[in-house]
Amino acid sequence: MRPFDYTRAESFESAVATLHDDPTAAVLGGGTTLVDLMKCGVTAPGLLVDLTHLPGHDGIDADASALRVGALATMSEVAVHPQVRRRWPAMSEALLKGASQQLRNMARIGGNLMQRTRCGYFRDPTFAECNKRDPGSGCAALHGENRGHAVLGTSEQCVATFPGDLPVALTAFDAVVHVLGPDGPRVIPIEEFYLLPGDTPWREHPLHPDELITAVEVPASPAAAFSHYLKVRDRVSYEFAAASAAVGLAIGADGRIVDARVALGGVATKPWRERSVEAALIGQPAEPEVFRQAATLAAAGARPLEHNGYKVELARRTVARAFVELAGQR
Ligand code: SF4
Repeated sequence: MRPFDYTRAESFESAVATLHDDPTAAVLGGGTTLVDLMKCGVTAPGLLVDLTHLPGHDGIDADASALRVGALATMSEVAVHPQVRRRWPAMSEALLKGASQQLRNMARIGGNLMQRTRCGYFRDPTFAECNKRDPGSGCAALHGENRGHAVLGTSEQCVATFPGDLPVALTAFDAVVHVLGPDGPRVIPIEEFYLLPGDTPWREHPLHPDELITAVEVPASPAAAFSHYLKVRDRVSYEFAAASAAVGLAIGADGRIVDARVALGGVATKPWRERSVEAALIGQPAEPEVFRQAATLAAAGARPLEHNGYKVELARRTVARAFVELAGQR
């Protein structure tokens, strides 16, 4: 790890000013991603701006219309919060299925949204080809070991899978991200927060270098309150998703679906909303065969590589099973 300077911010506003003045500065939250990347030599900030001690940014507040979580709340605190478990259960499940308990105790929600890919070529600078780490250098994964890479949202420049769990649930339920920059606060819908790699895979989100996440807000809805996160992976614990699905349903008194939500993780370059599946479920009875049929619409347009073709069928089965398990909770 290269030497760096360290400072404790006096406020979010002062942290923004520091980021604005020093382009080598990076923000330190829980450190569970950033320090990892510094150790592997992927990133080398000249200054770490520590936010962790700042009061007033770790709140978890729910009212009738929405949940608002401060950027410095830990994954553990949000996962077990009674309102989150009762009214946004897919969020709680997604958090509990991410990382280990020790990491969840450290990692903050702002940093969780900023996770970077687990592509092995990205995280190992001894591989020269990685457009995300070194623009213009190529993509070693395209013709290398790509079993864990994405089949949706890819480009010729990058096929890295988005690694997170919570952002998948946030995408299913129309969250927005609150950010602060030198020009003041702004709000970014979660589906616009994550960018496709296209020709610029090093740009993963629309944040300016001197902007910070301050909070995430998730609307309340019947589908969010009746929701589920299913994560399929090579081992049961402490593993990234081969495929995952955040699903939610609102079911009318006649047993027919009036609202359906689904977003995929583990198979795309960003959290992947599946609106065609949602539309196919509206007005249908909440029955297993209906879910299986609708799930066949998931992962449309997938572009498998040599080793990851299994993810197309796995994504569809994960969606179907997530809905079947959720409907079984009624
Ligand atoms: Fe780099 Fe993306 Fe290719 Fe991985 S998939 S080697 S992150 S360019």
